[in-house]
Amino acid sequence: MAKYVYFFGGGKAEGKSEMKNLLGGKGANLAEMANLGLPVPPGFTITTEVCTLYYRNKGKYPAELKKQVEDNLKKTERIMEKKFGDPKDPLLVSVRSGARASMPGMMETILNVGLAPSTIPGLIAKTNNPRFVYDAYRRLIMMYSDVVMEKAAGIEPAGEQGIRKQLEAIMHQMKEKKGVKLDTELTADDLKELAAQFKARVLKVLGKPFPDEPMDQLWGSVSAVFQSWNGRRAVEYRRIERIPDEWGTAVTVQTMVFGNTGETSATGVGFTRDPATGRNIFYGEWLPNAQGEDVVAGIRTPLPVNEAGKTAHTKGLTSLEKAMPAAYKQLNAIQQKLEKHYRDMLDIEFTIEEGRLFMLQCRVGKRNGVAAVKIAVDMGLEKLIKPEEAVLRVKADALVQCLLPMVDPKAERESKPLAKGLPAGPGGAHGMVVFTADEAARRGKELHEKVILVRTETSPEDVHGMHAAQAILTAKGGMTSHAALVARGWGKCCIVGCSGIAVDMDRKVLKAGGKEIAEGAWITLNGTSGTVYEGKLPLVDPDLRNNKDFRQFMKWVDSFRKLGVRTNADTPQDARKALEFGAEGIGLFRTEHMFYGEGADRPLFLLRKMIASSTLEERRKALDELYPFMKADMKATMEAMQGHPVTIRTLDPPLHEFVPKDTARLEELARALNISMEELQKRAEGLHETNPMMGHRGVRLGVTYPEVTEYQVRAILEAAAEVALDKKVKNVLPEIMIPVTCAKSELDDQKKIIDRVVEEVKAKYKLKKLDYLIGTMIELPRAALTADKMAETAEFFSFGTNDLTQMTFGFSRDDIGSFVPEYLKKKLLPEDPFQSLDQEGVGQLIRMGIDRGRSTRAKLKVGICGEHGGDYESVKFCHRVGMNYVSCSPFRVPIARLAAAHAALEEKKSK
Ligand code: ADP
Ligand code: MG
Ligand code: MG
Repeated sequence: MAKYVYFFGGGKAEGKSEMKNLLGGKGANLAEMANLGLPVPPGFTITTEVCTLYYRNKGKYPAELKKQVEDNLKKTERIMEKKFGDPKDPLLVSVRSGARASMPGMMETILNVGLAPSTIPGLIAKTNNPRFVYDAYRRLIMMYSDVVMEKAAGIEPAGEQGIRKQLEAIMHQMKEKKGVKLDTELTADDLKELAAQFKARVLKVLGKPFPDEPMDQLWGSVSAVFQSWNGRRAVEYRRIERIPDEWGTAVTVQTMVFGNTGETSATGVGFTRDPATGRNIFYGEWLPNAQGEDVVAGIRTPLPVNEAGKTAHTKGLTSLEKAMPAAYKQLNAIQQKLEKHYRDMLDIEFTIEEGRLFMLQCRVGKRNGVAAVKIAVDMGLEKLIKPEEAVLRVKADALVQCLLPMVDPKAERESKPLAKGLPAGPGGAHGMVVFTADEAARRGKELHEKVILVRTETSPEDVHGMHAAQAILTAKGGMTSHAALVARGWGKCCIVGCSGIAVDMDRKVLKAGGKEIAEGAWITLNGTSGTVYEGKLPLVDPDLRNNKDFRQFMKWVDSFRKLGVRTNADTPQDARKALEFGAEGIGLFRTEHMFYGEGADRPLFLLRKMIASSTLEERRKALDELYPFMKADMKATMEAMQGHPVTIRTLDPPLHEFVPKDTARLEELARALNISMEELQKRAEGLHETNPMMGHRGVRLGVTYPEVTEYQVRAILEAAAEVALDKKVKNVLPEIMIPVTCAKSELDDQKKIIDRVVEEVKAKYKLKKLDYLIGTMIELPRAALTADKMAETAEFFSFGTNDLTQMTFGFSRDDIGSFVPEYLKKKLLPEDPFQSLDQEGVGQLIRMGIDRGRSTRAKLKVGICGEHGGDYESVKFCHRVGMNYVSCSPFRVPIARLAAAHAALEEKKSK
């Protein structure tokens, strides 16, 4: 018989933490904690398989399920010495959702199931605490009517019309009538009356009575949790997080313990280390006399769990450590034990009932990128994990976050903060204020504007807008609030609990520091300190050189990787930036970049003169004038690279790209060449091509105008000779790279020119020896197919995967905007092949190119210099096919290093 239900409790469990796929994360970890002998209220988990079957069979359960649930309920009752639905001493349960991957707040949980007119008097008699019983009952009605009777029934009322909102409004009225502020100030009678009002409203709005039968409540809750897997926000969240729809959720039914019986009871959440900074302290929040989501929902301001975690904002509040020292001590010991056991930073949930501690959840905690690196490094140094593991634990996205911009400290010092809140997501961000998730999505995603979503608090309904925003700012909520959790997962800048601000939704203004800030106005957030500024403060790059954790981490990364990492750099500034990021050379220096940007006017003019020349003599004259610029450019870059190799690509783009379009410039050019405008026009037209991408470019320019190659090579070699003679830089090694080749004969043709120039340069500088390499880009399928021949001449290959992808797919790089998005939407392509290397197709050409190339030249040096050289998955592929290095933009260098280390470690593991 298939086993659909797994028990836990009484010091042991049928499940364990490895069984997440079957039991969901929550169920598996509850089982693990029970096995560790921790105080976990007993219960059982219905597997994710049942969820799948439930959907496959249109809402019907497998026949055996009912009996298995009943048996497990009996087991629970035996341990608790109470019976579910017993009028004298009823057992109450929670019905909890739990998928394989955590989806904070996306699915549903119902507490206090089993409270009904038949069981209420018994529980009151047993506990002697009517206030607690009616508080639990009104909570049950709120959750159940919302989750089971409305959401799971597919009713989607607009805006504030949902049943939960309506019941909250009734509760609010009750508080006003009684002249109290907090939920906890309502008396037993108030709550009893409230429950009656709730039930009446539920009947009126939903047309069905609230179920008075405990068993009906239980099965209604179980089905609703399964239904919530396909709720709108859960589906949306899965899409963003790329969680497969097929996984399904498990359902855990667990004995209730109560944090809401009075001042000796409490509920809370914590992290075994600070998830915002990674600091090694137990970090958490709690509330006395509270239940379930009270802490997270921001209904009351949560209190700090201990003294160590207090901040400037929370220093006046009472910690659990002070309020309930015995329970805190036990909790602290448990969190330490759990972290040692799991060997990772954990997120835990607990409840204290009349001084007795219970553990309700644990899972590997979400953390931002900065914290991820710090925790990995600390745990490595503490010997809790090996350096290998530390490296594998940090994902590429997390590392990206460490490189994120922050608010310019200088600008910050000069600005007066508007407000301060809790630093929930680090880094800096600026953007225009928006107040609704829909507006954030519209302006952020569709109009590509920078917006900051400002809310009193966020709810799972806001996820799409939070994703589209640069940052999130909330007036309420703590470090474990919904906004904080979600932002942390995405590495988004986020400030919560910013009590100095107020959001006026009717007038669409943000009030802070005596000012009113309208929708669309700029604000700036420092998510690392929790400070909000008015206006648009500049953002700057972080200071990696003084980040000890980052440096230690990258040291470990480099100790494992085999693949070299170079950079694509065209200027000495880029080169220096890349060196700082750990680049080991330049894999692509594009000669043509000296014709763009600052200081490019004169060289560009001379290049145009060269292009518009019609005779060899004219061309040589123009090249003579251009030459000093070329050489100076090469020299500056070689000096900046301090002896690391530099791959210089000869002129690549089609020439007509450089022909000026405006008349003033054309006239200037005509004058310089001493020809008429008509003549110049004619020459420009002669350069026109129908399909320039496949036209007169790359090596073809060098074949038709050998002097163009000659001058470039001379500039490269003379620069190298002078830098070497200067003796400031050792090991100068220029690598001359010929682009867009498709035949060995082209390379031989160019090599003749290069050989001649080499001799001339040697003679000029009286050198016996001149170090350089000749290689080629492999960016046309024919070059890959004939790589064995190409390698007879080429000493290195660099796969130009932008063009290679273009030529293999036959997709014009410049025109994919009109069709690739549709391909992605229809899932005809798994990913944009220009962003993530198409390993299945283009990858075959690469593999073949490398193998064939090395069949003639065993030591052939092979790299990649397309955009893919900085893409995590693509870099791992480059490792697997045995490349020597990847080359990517400076900012991606650390990511490429990490990917290379991950690939090497994964290979080691698989052996
Ligand atoms: P989520 O997946 O949204 O975190 P949970 O299933 O963890 O949902 O439930 C939310 C909260 O409800 C928990 O943090 C806990 O405080 C409370 N809760 C759940 N089950 C119980 C229980 N058996 N006894 C007491 N509180 C519970
Ligand atoms: Mg939880
Ligand atoms: Mg190319």
